[in-house]
Amino acid sequence: MKLKEMRDLLTTEGIQLTKSLGQNFLHDANQLARILASAELTPGDRVLEIGPGLGPLTQLLLGKGARVLAIEFDRRLVEVLKNRWPEHPGLELISADALRYVRETQRDWSEWKVVSNLPYSVASPIIVELVQSTIPPARMTVTLQWEVARRLVAIEDTDEYGVLTLLVQFAYEARGMFKIPSDCFFPVPDVDSACVTLVRRPTPLLPPELAGSFEKVVKRGFSQRRKMMMKLLKADWPEARLKHAYDELSLSPQIRAEKVSLDQFVRLTQLLASPTDSTGSK
Ligand code: SAM
Repeated sequence: MKLKEMRDLLTTEGIQLTKSLGQNFLHDANQLARILASAELTPGDRVLEIGPGLGPLTQLLLGKGARVLAIEFDRRLVEVLKNRWPEHPGLELISADALRYVRETQRDWSEWKVVSNLPYSVASPIIVELVQSTIPPARMTVTLQWEVARRLVAIEDTDEYGVLTLLVQFAYEARGMFKIPSDCFFPVPDVDSACVTLVRRPTPLLPPELAGSFEKVVKRGFSQRRKMMMKLLKADWPEARLKHAYDELSLSPQIRAEKVSLDQFVRLTQLLASPTDSTGSK
């Protein structure tokens, strides 16, 4: 879908875009093609597209033979999409808030691939919601704000490394990222974007019953980024157990969360969990 086609369609439909809904539409054919290639689709794949907008990506997904579930919040755009593809057998269109939909439906996404140019305002919560759904999607190729993308793929001891990094990388491996300059979108947003591909880990790093504890350790550890993690964790775990775990991992008691790797957080969670209380809480 070229820029002119987008503009004409919006004018014909009398649609004024809503900034708060992150309505910046991708019109650059090369970038759209790169996103599609990163998604590695095969015909018949089930694809979740959040925020299809005017449908530039939807068109490519359908062209690949994917079965697309597209969730769009803006009813005006839903009408445009219905007119574009009346009764397309490969397209199911839902008019809803995707965050609420994912949170409330709790469906089995295990065979699904997510391919979306996400609305900025809800990109991180939607990703976390999908990552933490009962059975998360096999793969996600998502376009989002450059700064958020860097947090998804970050490693320890960097400014971007934090709670979002760890919650996502706990379940997914990052497999590539490329920048999409802001002028590839209409209207041009204030920030650049990036497309990131995440692939679900074949084997979970911890058994499901410890996933909540992992999140608790990470969130508590990063609750005050500049503080020593040991001091923060004392709010939830007994000092003796913390000392034992730190010794086992050869972690300095002075270490801050941003220096602790994903593997170390995983091991710490295991060590803090006790046989009688899997959260490891006091
Ligand atoms: N996929 C289109 C493209 O690449 O041109 C549009 C992407 S635009 C960045 C984000 C889209 O998400 C907009 O169409 C917006 O209306 C929609 N949107 C915003 N918040 C949403 C939500 N909570 N649930 C579903 N769609 C949402």
